[in-house]
Amino acid sequence: MTAQKLDRTTWFKGGDAECSTDAVPPERAYRLVLLGAPGVGKGTQAELISQRLRPCHLSTGDVFRAAKSLPASERTPAITQALEFMKRGELVPDDTVINIVRERRRCITCPAGFLLDGFPRTVRQAEALATMLAQLGVKLDAVLSYDMPLEQVIARLSGRRTCASCKAVFHVTGRPPKVPDVCDNCGGQLTLRDDDRPESIRVRMQAYQASTAPLADYYQKAGLLVSLSAEGAPEEIYQRTLVALSSLQR
Ligand code: AMP
Repeated sequence: MTAQKLDRTTWFKGGDAECSTDAVPPERAYRLVLLGAPGVGKGTQAELISQRLRPCHLSTGDVFRAAKSLPASERTPAITQALEFMKRGELVPDDTVINIVRERRRCITCPAGFLLDGFPRTVRQAEALATMLAQLGVKLDAVLSYDMPLEQVIARLSGRRTCASCKAVFHVTGRPPKVPDVCDNCGGQLTLRDDDRPESIRVRMQAYQASTAPLADYYQKAGLLVSLSAEGAPEEIYQRTLVALSSLQR
């Protein structure tokens, strides 16, 4: 199958903005939510799934990061407020994130399906999503939860090194650069992000445990949760995901 880059104009801009893709919708359109602690490799799986099975990758974090580079005059008040929270490393308030997703509800009815990544992050957001889906007459196929022991997540994040210039990501043992601390792509200096320091990681994980982990229970009760081990190479985890998806009811 050929990998395809999906156009995410509607997701990034919201409102009436339209994607210009003329891609033929896939035979089987998946509608999925991805759950997983920071550092488990959820973003990598999201990329593999959306490239190969074609649901559109809808990441709320990507919406905020894209908005950061817009001139202030082009940002909606909701986005401007969200960026303030993001800058402080805090979760954006539920109402703001819910409004941002509502402004992009056309993506929920995308014929290619969707892969929600980073939303919902709290039970309130999950309830708002359920209401939105019911209003739009859309059914979720599954919620994929990528699980990994806490100590392993900390080891992964604390070994991560990011290029100060081009932002490429390496790992001291998992994906080492050819020359220690030097970016393979641009020769930039590799650094440890402040929020990847062990003490910060513990704080982020605590926030995750408090707000996002209860979502697994929520979706378990709804009969949608599919738990997957996030251990192993990305391709191995992707194959595990495919097996789980193939056993879903249509
Ligand atoms: P991510 O790339 O998903 O880790 O998101 C980056 C940042 O965007 C988070 O640290 C939050 O500040 C904000 N963010 C993204 N999605 C949400 C969400 N669903 N609820 C609250 N904050 C969010």
